[in-house]
Amino acid sequence: MSEEHSSTEQQQEQERRNRRLKEIRRARNRLFVCFWTFPVYVVAVMRVLQAGNETNLIMLAYMALYAGFGVNVASKRCPDCHEQFFVKSYFLNPFRKQCAHCGCPLKGEESLGA
Ligand SMILES: [Zn+2]
Repeated sequence: MSEEHSSTEQQQEQERRNRRLKEIRRARNRLFVCFWTFPVYVVAVMRVLQAGNETNLIMLAYMALYAGFGVNVASKRCPDCHEQFFVKSYFLNPFRKQCAHCGCPLKGEESLGA
């Protein structure tokens, strides 16, 4: 019987899917860390301004960081429908808990924590 064979394939497929979902979550977490560090950034800019220095470089670096993470998150594709997971009609919504297109949940049925 090919029953066993196909169930192993299914398992592999499931693993691949979980791995991609994990990647998506990780990319999103990086963007969130960026959000959360915003107050730190503001304080840093204030300090630099008080010291009478230019802040252009910090601002550019921060914006580049944001853009980089944003593009990274936006480029993540759903393992099920292969559409952009967080993007629907040009809007990036990193707070989604499921795929913008097929509704595939971001939290897979994985047991590996994180
Ligand atoms: Zn999808």
